[in-house]
Amino acid sequence: MEVPIPDLEASTEAWHARLAPRLEAVRERIAAAARRAGRDPDEVTLVAVLKGRPPAAARAVHDLGVRHLAENRVQEARRRREVLGTLPGALWHLIGPLQRNKIVWALRLFDRIDSVDRLSLARELSRRAVRAGIAVPVLLEVNVGREPQKHGFWPQAPAPEGREALEAALEEILSLPGLRVEGLMTVPPLAADPEAVRPYFRALRQLRDRLAARYPQATWARLSMGMSADFEVAVEEGATEVRLGRILFEG
Ligand SMILES: *Cc1c(COP(=O)(O)O)cnc(C)c1O
Repeated sequence: MEVPIPDLEASTEAWHARLAPRLEAVRERIAAAARRAGRDPDEVTLVAVLKGRPPAAARAVHDLGVRHLAENRVQEARRRREVLGTLPGALWHLIGPLQRNKIVWALRLFDRIDSVDRLSLARELSRRAVRAGIAVPVLLEVNVGREPQKHGFWPQAPAPEGREALEAALEEILSLPGLRVEGLMTVPPLAADPEAVRPYFRALRQLRDRLAARYPQATWARLSMGMSADFEVAVEEGATEVRLGRILFEG
């Protein structure tokens, strides 16, 4: 049962008014970047990143036609969903680190897990998905900038101590039941100039292309890269989904 909450209704309207022009501008920039690269703008999905934003902002962005919604924390997603109830047609992405003890909740709350960053997580997700009778779409997160503090598979063997090279884990991951590997995701190194991250986006796409040729048992159709500061460069380099938070919700 959805009981209307007066405050939620009023602030949803305020968010709606604030978000509508921003969303239009961002969609236009995505389309322009796609055209510059000779791509069809429809190949690029806008994923709204809700972390830290109020439920009304989520409701409003959904009202404005955004169907792909992302969270980076399971607990926060749970609380938000209790307030929001069901948003028709919404597809929920988890884009943050997933702890083992939150996997059962993650499978209930999310349609896609875009941040599979280690073999042990893939194994446990598989076990739980099989038990739940589902096949969960996943992206493998790659630490394409080889940053010590960052999550994700190492892009190339050999991986340093304590890290897993993607290709070393891949044969097993692709054989796990209950998991559907659909592509790669990355968070590149922070840079003031978006051009500085272009090589990382390009490297992720090239890695995806190599894997697609070598492991045809997965689709490899999705390439999740690009955030508020650099999404146009990511689209030029082949992103099929961009994850946007600040540019929509802040300022
Ligand atoms: C926060 C976050 C984003 C969105 O970043 P913005 O700069 O706010 O657009 C995208 N991806 C991940 C993994 C994030 O944690």
